[in-house]
Amino acid sequence: TLPHRVDDSMAVWEEFKEVSIKYECVSLGEGAPGMNPPQFLVDAMIESIHEGFNQYIRIMGSPLLVNKIAEIYGKKIKREVNPLTEVIVGVGAYTLIGSILLALIDPNQNEEIIIFEPCWPCYYDHVQISNAVYRSVPFKLVDGVWRFDPEEFRKALNQKSKILLLNNAQNPTGKLFSREEYQQISDILKDFPNIIILSDEVYEYLTFDGSEFIHFATIDDNFNKTISVFSGGKLFNATGWKVGWALGPSYLVKAVATVLNTLVQGTNSPAQIAMSKSLEKLTQKGFLGNDDQTYLEYVRSEFQRVRDYMVKEINENMDLPIKALKCDSGYFIMVDITEVIPQIPKRYTESHDFEDLQEGLFMPDGRIPNDLAFCRWMVVERKVMMMPNSLFYYKDSLYKTDNYVRLAICKGYDLSVKAILRLQGKQ
Ligand code: PMP
Ligand code: GLN
Repeated sequence: TLPHRVDDSMAVWEEFKEVSIKYECVSLGEGAPGMNPPQFLVDAMIESIHEGFNQYIRIMGSPLLVNKIAEIYGKKIKREVNPLTEVIVGVGAYTLIGSILLALIDPNQNEEIIIFEPCWPCYYDHVQISNAVYRSVPFKLVDGVWRFDPEEFRKALNQKSKILLLNNAQNPTGKLFSREEYQQISDILKDFPNIIILSDEVYEYLTFDGSEFIHFATIDDNFNKTISVFSGGKLFNATGWKVGWALGPSYLVKAVATVLNTLVQGTNSPAQIAMSKSLEKLTQKGFLGNDDQTYLEYVRSEFQRVRDYMVKEINENMDLPIKALKCDSGYFIMVDITEVIPQIPKRYTESHDFEDLQEGLFMPDGRIPNDLAFCRWMVVERKVMMMPNSLFYYKDSLYKTDNYVRLAICKGYDLSVKAILRLQGKQ
């Protein structure tokens, strides 16, 4: 047998895609946008290919792109950013996150990575491949808001703690960390000065109701120990292009560069040039002939429109007793299914027609998770795909719950209406 460096969490995403196709579902599952990238990006891509940007490129990122990133993100984090030493471009935020962990973790020291749960499951694979130890701190719902207990966070830290992996805006909860919460975290970290922060901010531009997005690097002097990760794929609705970037102090960026060089040796050239030509256009007024609106404002308002519509329909017009939770940001809303659990047909809670479940997907007591059973029920009988929240916990997590499902709000308004009508049993 070949060595298994990671559990096969990829299988989950692939299984859900396959099942979705087999049952002809509308998918509110994977967070891939339902709309195409803006025309200015597509035009810039074609132009870049014709201009000859088709060969290998500077490994840490095209000078054109890193300059733009330093300029734009420097303003966001309120400090001058050196484009050549403090910025790195990679194959999506995904590869950057993996490279950061591989670069910073000593594989022989049982170093710990602290992550708030529920979280994006791809983190587990990166933690495993870097041979780190996963340590989670739970978010708990308090009056409908996902919060953490600062004391529980402090208790999770010790001399082995190496990286705090923060995700703001958060997948899957839609949580936005408040300034007070970040200050609490920053204060606690002062007692553990060696911890490095990996701040995954791929949904940074998607905050709703005018809420404020805070970069962890801007709190106290955290820039000096924080590497922040962004996604061009998310920003431009072009997730398949796989371009992302990270920003941080040069000693961190340099360490990451050696790993990224080893793994991928540079990121897609024309896509980088196209993004460098398009980054500024994201915030220029006049998008779609609307004098007052920028592309990013347009995207944010479309997502918020979908969120408002889905939350209202789920809370007011369902024949099933489910309840949408508050969502302040990002690609997803969470829905509480606690009350509907007794109605899930036994066929889904006690057995299933699909492939065998991987071990990690069962509840710790061996049950099929209720949220998975609910999702499978909805796939078969209402033809809508959603993601069970139990997937967003580490396989052995003490905090795993199966009372919620995650719905993508990134599919565009028309598809979202279709999905909701199906969930309501109307189509
Ligand atoms: N971080 C989070 C929280 C995500 O949800 C995703 C989803 N794709 C990524 C990172 C990866 O971003 P990219 O597509 O740029 O690799
Ligand atoms: N971030 C997206 C999600 O959580 C992409 C899923 C993936 O990892 N393939 O749905």
